[in-house]
Order: sequence, then C-alpha cells, then structure tokens
Amino acid sequence: MSNSSSSDVSKPHSSLLTYFICAAIVGAIALALAAPHVAESVEVGGELFLRLLKMIVVPLVFTSVLSGILGLGDVRKLGKPGAAAIGYYLCTTILAVLIGLVVVNVIKPGVGTVDPSVLEQYSGIVVGAPKERMTESLMELSGLTKDEVTSVFGDLPSGESETPSVGTIFKNLLLMLVTDNLFVAAAETQLLPIIVFAIIFGAMLTTMHDEVSSITQLIQQANNALMRFVMLLMNVAPLGIFCLVAARFGKAQSEGKFLEELSQIGWYFGTVVLGLGIHALIVLPLIYWIVRRENPYRYMMAMSQALLTAFSTASSSATLPVTMECTEQAGISKRSSEFVIPLGATINMDGTALYEAAAAIFIAQAIGIDLDFFQQVTIAVTATLAAIGAAGIPEAGLVTMLIVLNAVGLPVEYVGLILTVDWLLDRFRTAVNTFGDSVGAAVVEKTLPPDQPSLQAEPTSLA
Ligand code: ASP
Repeated sequence: MSNSSSSDVSKPHSSLLTYFICAAIVGAIALALAAPHVAESVEVGGELFLRLLKMIVVPLVFTSVLSGILGLGDVRKLGKPGAAAIGYYLCTTILAVLIGLVVVNVIKPGVGTVDPSVLEQYSGIVVGAPKERMTESLMELSGLTKDEVTSVFGDLPSGESETPSVGTIFKNLLLMLVTDNLFVAAAETQLLPIIVFAIIFGAMLTTMHDEVSSITQLIQQANNALMRFVMLLMNVAPLGIFCLVAARFGKAQSEGKFLEELSQIGWYFGTVVLGLGIHALIVLPLIYWIVRRENPYRYMMAMSQALLTAFSTASSSATLPVTMECTEQAGISKRSSEFVIPLGATINMDGTALYEAAAAIFIAQAIGIDLDFFQQVTIAVTATLAAIGAAGIPEAGLVTMLIVLNAVGLPVEYVGLILTVDWLLDRFRTAVNTFGDSVGAAVVEKTLPPDQPSLQAEPTSLA
C-alpha cells in the first residue's frame, strides 16, 4: 500500500537531501555567528516551515493510529505490540535516566565549577514572588504559553513547599490520557487523548460489519495523502531548517550572553551531551541489534532527516511526520510505525528523562546539597514520570523538571542556572527522543505477526 502509493510524488533523493539539510545547518550557524541580525531576519521562513509541519501532526496522528488499528483488523491484536511498545518505552526511559545519574555522579559537573556570585544572580530570577516570577521567566525564556507551562502539574509549585507526591504525578498522567473536549486537545496538540480516541474509535469500527471496508479505505487514503504532503514538504526542508537554525542561533549571538553562560556551566552541558551520546550511540543501537540483528548505525543514517529536523525544531511532535516518513523509507512496516511512532512522540522521551535527572543533580551539586541514595532514587522515578508527561514541544522538559526538583526539595528557583543554554541542549535531547521512537518502531515490528495479505479490516465483534 504505502510504498506504491508514494512512488509518484516528487520525492527528493534521500541521501542528497540529508546532505543539503546538513549544509543548511552548518551554513545557518556560520551566518548567525558572522551576521546575527541578518540571520535573525529569516525567522519567518523557519516559522513557516514549522507551521507546515505542525499543521500535519494532528490529522496524521489521528489517521495513522486509526489506520494502524484497522490494518490489524481487530483491536485485540493490538495487545501484544501495544504492550511491547509501552514496555520498550518504559525500559529505555529508565535506562536513559540511569545513564543520566551515572554521568552526573561520576563527572560531578556542579561541584566547584559554578561561581557563588553566579548562583546568587540566578537565584534572583524568582526570589520574591516565586510562583508568578518563575512562570513569567519560564514563559519568556522558553517561549511557552502559560497554559503549556502549567499543563502538566497544574500550578507551578512555589519556591518553598508543595512537593507533589508521586501519587499526584501519577494521577495527572492518568488524566492526560483523556480529554473532555477532543477539539481542544487537537487545538493544543495534546496527542495522547487523540491517540486514545483513535484507538477506541478504530475498535468500534472493526465491530461494524458492512461499512467498515469503505471507511478503512477512506482512512488509509487520507493517511497516504498526508504522507505525500510530508514528502512534498521535505523538498523545502533545507530552506526551512536553514531559517529555523539561523534565526535561533542569530538570536543567541546578538543577545551576546550565550557563550558566557555556556562557559559558566560548560561542564554541565558537556555531561548531559555525553550521557545523550552514550544512550543514542551505544544503548539504543545495542537494543536494536539484539532484537533485529541488523546494523543499527545504518538505521540511524536512514533516520538522519528526522534527527536533523528534531535538532532544528526542538520539537519531537513537529518532527513526527518526518519520523514516520523516514521509518517508512527505512522499510519498517506501516503496521508498526503507524501506532508506535505517534505513541512514542507523546510518551517516550529518553533524552528528556536523562536530562531531567542529570540537571536536577547538577543543581544540587552547584548549591552544595548532598543527595542521599533515596533522594537519587526519587529523582530517577520522578524524572521518568516527568519525561512521560512532557509534551513534544521546545523546552517542555525544562518545565516538567520542576517536578523532579520539588520531589527532593531542591529550590526550584535555581533552574535559572540552566535556562540560558537550555534551548541548545533541548535540540540534542529532542534528536535523542526522536531516535528512541524510531528504534521503538523497529523493535516492536518484531513482535507483530507476519503481514497479512490484505489490510482491509475484517469485521469483528468485541464480544
Ligand atoms: N523538546 C523536547 C521534545 O520535543 C522535549 C524537551 O524539552 O525535552 O521532545
């Protein structure tokens, strides 16, 4: 179905396109360093590309999950791959957190590296009226809306108290599964309720006897059309990515303080990037190889356009269409990627989890607080939950990290210490998040029964 359907769209030559995107990123950084104001002026081109990508996300998630369910023919067949996907996601997220804990405890980037006067300056960001000032600082620095900042755990915790219990975090995660208004969820790109709705809707469709094959066809055609849209869009990806990267790096360069801030917490930055590197270049490839006995780095190369898009947009949700396009090109069956990638883009954030654990401990080290074993375990658990709860949007991880800081009673105002460099670190963790999702689709594919000759749903009964 999909392979033949997509062949007649003007499709850029894959590896050539990857080179163009790489060149665009390098060129954009060079322009930002040489002429930051010129670089900033191309912002609109990047925004246009980003909006085009985001425009596809909600309908694509809905049609692809639905098409995945209808392709299975019976929602009960979702049990095994569904459990495999969730199991894979949970295990790799926990592994990522452990790597974060190990690198930050071994390297100790916060011990003796941050000038006390610098600490003072950052704590000033929110001292006074912690909640309001902090919400404002986060909104300003991350570009998130107030709703996005407060979406995961209600109101921001105050500076001194209100440690949310693990039970509260669980409760909020559970509530994130459903929405009281699907259109609001769609308007806010909350993908989890859309996925849940699509699964239930698809399940109901598979119980209908006469109409289901025409509906299946309609959904799959709509899904194919959206994938063609993505392919078309990839033709202009180098341009869009050039504009996105130039504008953001140009902004950092013209503000002037980025390199200074980076040098103050360079060890922290390097530690997190090292952890991300270990996870993406060693752990995930090893899992891929163990399950598939194929070269994981070849698969990584096949994912390169998605990884570069993730780096450029800092949003795994916006990258989702490209991720699906790449997994499909890499030969992963639609039956796996259609369901696993949207779910992964929503709940699987290895990079974010690793970063949240490492950043919380870095802050503790910088302000001279010793964390005991139990506190480190608490950090591991809350970082896992916070990453699951984080949306696939720029710097969402920074916001949900407040849960982690709160859980062990670390003063949340010191998040100011890592704010200025977070936009860059975010790009690395988003790329790792996206790679984690792609490996998930490849792993889960192995749990699926052999492909059926036809993907037309057989009407079934739920009873
Ligand atoms: N930007 C990341 C993503 O979209 C989330 C984060 O801030 O860590 O996957």
